[in-house]
Amino acid sequence: MINQLCVLVNNTLPNILTKISDDNWYHQRGLYINPIKYYTMSSLLLDIYHKMLDAYGPQYWWPAESKFEMMVGAILTQSASWRNVEIAISNLKSSNSLSPYKIRNIPDKELARLIYSTGYYNAKALKLKSLSQYIKSQFDDDINNMKHVELEKLRKGLLGVYGIGEETADDILLYALEKPVFVIDSYTKRLIDRLDLSPEENNYSNYSALFTENLPDDIKLFQEYHALIVRHAKETCKKNPICKSCCISQICPTGNGIINM
Ligand code: SF4
Repeated sequence: MINQLCVLVNNTLPNILTKISDDNWYHQRGLYINPIKYYTMSSLLLDIYHKMLDAYGPQYWWPAESKFEMMVGAILTQSASWRNVEIAISNLKSSNSLSPYKIRNIPDKELARLIYSTGYYNAKALKLKSLSQYIKSQFDDDINNMKHVELEKLRKGLLGVYGIGEETADDILLYALEKPVFVIDSYTKRLIDRLDLSPEENNYSNYSALFTENLPDDIKLFQEYHALIVRHAKETCKKNPICKSCCISQICPTGNGIINM
C-alpha cells in the first residue's frame, strides 16, 4: 500500500500537492495515510520513530556497566524477561564472574546455577562459555579489539559462536560494539507487519534492510529505534493491540481497520 502511494505521488503533478497536503483531505477520502507527507519510506520510518520517541521518551538502552555485560545480557535475554536477566547478571557480579576469563574458568554447573533465573540455564552456560572462548581466541580477551574489525567479518564470526543467532549477534554488534545494524525481533516483525510494510520475502535480512536502507546510517538512531519498538510492542502494540491509545494509529492500516491482523 505504501509503495503504491509512493508511485502515485511520484506520478502526480507537483503543483497540486500543496493543495492536498493535509491529513484530513486523505482521511475524508478513506485513505489512512497522507502520501504527500510520506513520499519516501525514509520519511515514513522517521515519522514513526519520532512519534514513538515523543510518546515514550528515550529508553537508555542497553543498560549495562560494560560491553561484556551487554554481550552476556544479549545471550541471557533469549526467551527470558529482562527482570530475570537482571537477577542473573547480579549473581554473576556478586560472585565476581562477569569477565570472559572468569566465565571460561567457572565450572559449568556453577555458571548454570548463577544464571538459573533466565531459563535454559545449562544451554546458556555453554553459550556464555563459547562466547568467552571466541573473545579469547580471536581478540586476546580484549573487547576493544573487536571494534576495529569490519562489520561483516565480525558478524560472521559471532554467528559461528554456539548459541548466537542473528538477533543476538545484532544486539551485540549494535549495542556493545556500536556497529550500524538493525536488530529484528518478534516485536519488530509484528509492528512492521501491522503497518503493512513487510518485505516480500519474510526473512531476517529483508526486515533489517527495510531500516538500514531507508534510515540515515546513524548508530544512535538504530539503538533508540529498536528500544522504542520493544517498548511500544510491550505496552501498546501487544498481541492484542491497544490501537485507541497508539501514538502511530493515524498511519497504521491495522489501527484503521484497513488490514486485519
Ligand atoms: S495502531 Fe494498533 S496495530 Fe497499529 S501500531 Fe498501533 S497498536 Fe499496533
